[in-house]
Amino acid sequence: MNDRDQFVCAVDIGGTKIAAAIGTADGKMLARYQTATHKDPTAGVDWIVSVIQDWHVTEKPGAKIRGLGVGCPGPLDRTGGMILKAPNLGTWNEYPLRQELTNRLSLPVELENDANLAAIGEHRYGAGCGCQDLVYVTVSTGIGGGLVIHDELVRGLDDSAGEIGHMTIDPHGPACNCGSRGCLEAMASGTAIMDAAHTMISVGNASEAMSEAYRKKGALTARDIAELAEKGDTVAASILDEAMISLGIGISNLITVLSPQIVVIGGGVSNIGERMFKTVRKQVQERVKLVPAEKIAIVPAKLGGDSTLYGGFFLAAGICQILSEE
Ligand SMILES: [Zn+2]
Repeated sequence: MNDRDQFVCAVDIGGTKIAAAIGTADGKMLARYQTATHKDPTAGVDWIVSVIQDWHVTEKPGAKIRGLGVGCPGPLDRTGGMILKAPNLGTWNEYPLRQELTNRLSLPVELENDANLAAIGEHRYGAGCGCQDLVYVTVSTGIGGGLVIHDELVRGLDDSAGEIGHMTIDPHGPACNCGSRGCLEAMASGTAIMDAAHTMISVGNASEAMSEAYRKKGALTARDIAELAEKGDTVAASILDEAMISLGIGISNLITVLSPQIVVIGGGVSNIGERMFKTVRKQVQERVKLVPAEKIAIVPAKLGGDSTLYGGFFLAAGICQILSEE
């Protein structure tokens, strides 16, 4: 494949933003665009098509773009090329996304769950490059993940594997959006941290600084709690540390079952940084006894918020290979 043939595209469709990127099959990002998520999927597809076509015309006229990999919140119908049940993307559900993009761009298009695609991105081009076995965890408003074993994504029955956020951590824990109780997501996500802080405020157990910040802003985010903890607020610190202990328990369980070479943690809440990694590593050290946990790296995502886009490049490059074999 020569240089003229190697361009691929990736799109990451989220509840609040859509990102699109053009890169090379070996994982170099050449251009990146972002917009607020359109309520109407047709307008969203219009935007995706226009940024890719404009880049093509202005930057590489005559070059061939080979494929497009799209990350979407799951569950998906990958065969039918549709999002099925993403609560924040109601109007996009059951919209023929792959068909529309294929028709408009005259490109082969594949859809994949966004957390799975982020795992592939980190495995191929990011922190897990060169590792055969990787666990990717994303901690943001929710908790998701992807598992790569022997260089292959673990899909499971109906593509449902990797729902790391819904492992039970505490059978008596808070109710989870999935219908269960005490899931990792209900204990350690940004939303869980926020809810725990608001509960502390409502029952009168919050610190004065927390209550004051709440009065000013009307709500506290995980970032607010992390900032207060950094300033020495012991109540904020205990809320944050409890959440990170739950995350550490979840990751310990994954390590015990899978014994991966690396655990990569991404998502907005992972920007808390060293305080989070320290607590998670300590839990792993204390709980994992039958796997050589000291050899397992637990690291931040190298591709930051763009892990899914890089995974999209790899997915698109995979389509090119299928085409060249035909
Ligand atoms: Zn759940």
